[in-house]
Amino acid sequence: LVVRPFNFSAGPAALPDEVLSQVAEEMLDWQGSGMSVMEMSHRGREFISIYEAAEADLRDLLQVPSNFRILFMQGGGLGENAIVPLNLSRGGAVDVVVTGSWSKKSAGEAKRYADVRIAADAASSSPERRYLDIPAPSSWRLRPDAAYVHVCTNETIDGVEFQSLPDLRALGCDAPLVIDFSSHVVSRPVDWRKVGAAFAGAQKNIGPAGLTLVIVREDLLGRALPICPSAFDYKIVAEAESMYNTPPTFGIYVAGLVFQWLKRFAYAGRTGLAAIEQRNIDKAALLYATLDGSSLYENRVATPCRSRMNVPFFLRDERLNDAFLAGARERGLLQLKGHKSVGGMRASIYNAMPLEGVQALVSYLKDFETQHG
Ligand code: PMP
Repeated sequence: LVVRPFNFSAGPAALPDEVLSQVAEEMLDWQGSGMSVMEMSHRGREFISIYEAAEADLRDLLQVPSNFRILFMQGGGLGENAIVPLNLSRGGAVDVVVTGSWSKKSAGEAKRYADVRIAADAASSSPERRYLDIPAPSSWRLRPDAAYVHVCTNETIDGVEFQSLPDLRALGCDAPLVIDFSSHVVSRPVDWRKVGAAFAGAQKNIGPAGLTLVIVREDLLGRALPICPSAFDYKIVAEAESMYNTPPTFGIYVAGLVFQWLKRFAYAGRTGLAAIEQRNIDKAALLYATLDGSSLYENRVATPCRSRMNVPFFLRDERLNDAFLAGARERGLLQLKGHKSVGGMRASIYNAMPLEGVQALVSYLKDFETQHG
């Protein structure tokens, strides 16, 4: 294996070395087929076997109940911002909880198809008008006739994560919950009893950009608006086993290898999703403790909703930003620059980031502080 730098990109993001090596090995000839996966018919038996294994492994990893359908689609997270209301809103009321830039964007797009209301907006209660907290679900203004309630369960830009899903029924709301779990999918379990539909772009925890994962409860199929493109109608896609149109075959193949990597992943006496979750907890704890213990860096997100995946942080002296990034690059710590809308830094520490990567970042943070603090 080639030794590579640690890549903290928010997405497209680092993938496990083992997976990339296997992809490289199989590039010209997938398992004696004489073809690259890119060159296979999506209806041939070789690709069907890849697709079936990916679906089954994901269902197993995430404990997806049998009354949910797993769809491999295209369009990305922003595509889903339109595809979800086209499928689920019936043109009626949609309630959106805004906890960061992505849920805000989802609300804006859904307005084109539905009567959107902001059920709560985390920014309005923060003095800096930034997203630093999740408003208590009991304060959300949910409408009885909402077709669904949308939340982004991990805000990639703001670093705000739901540590547990809201229980809408307990809030007296019968509408299905739709979650955008793009940036923490397969990093932790999902309580499917609380979810109607979930979507994720693949390019953070799953594989290459271009593949979009949708997991939708069966009773929500068949509600699409007449203007919904057929290729984006969940019912049509589900009935065709994600083969109504040509699915992103290479992405599904890489995702399948990532799911297998996760299933055999071992850490702290655990395996599979429990193991990767524990490592994610440990990585995040190490990084936040370092930031909190420093007088140079800060993360302002409320402790209970700090993301395990995306850790935005600021240098209190912003004039040091360029030196910080240059020094990081020299040490093989890549893509730490924060999102342009927030500034500062951001370390994305998805599943594929080893503990050693976070340890290397932490020692750099400390050394840099000693030099400049
Ligand atoms: N939702 C979330 C939570 C995201 O992190 C992103 C991408 N960073 C998107 C939506 C948009 O995804 P895409 O670029 O695939 O459209």
